[in-house]
Amino acid sequence: MSDTPKPLPRRDGLNGEFYEHCARGELRFQRCAGCQTWRHMPRYSCAECGSRDWTWEKSSGRGKLYSWTVSHRAFHPGFAGDVPYAVAIVELEEGPRIVSQIVDAKLDALRLDLPLEIVFEKVADDVTMPKFRIR
Ligand SMILES: [Zn+2]
Repeated sequence: MSDTPKPLPRRDGLNGEFYEHCARGELRFQRCAGCQTWRHMPRYSCAECGSRDWTWEKSSGRGKLYSWTVSHRAFHPGFAGDVPYAVAIVELEEGPRIVSQIVDAKLDALRLDLPLEIVFEKVADDVTMPKFRIR
């Protein structure tokens, strides 16, 4: 185990708004007001139509495992006690993909298209991370 704390995500600007929703137990993604495309990571304009108008829309929190890789070496000392662990790309029902972790599952249980659902994990006083479990 390591005494080094894990790095935390940036929480300024649009990224901060994303994590404020997570802290309230809501997974929200930006949705373009022009063409209705959902997007993630947060950004100021739509890659599809160029519109700078959007709303934060609530995701069902349901999705599937799009891809993953198993990390056998900690890229940061804060993760030294966690290896091996899976870094997962989850595709939500609405379309956005998010890099996250699968909790309460053995690595050999992971399969493409595995049905997943959101869980929120408070990792610091002011940071709640979106993670996923098998549904
Ligand atoms: Zn658009």
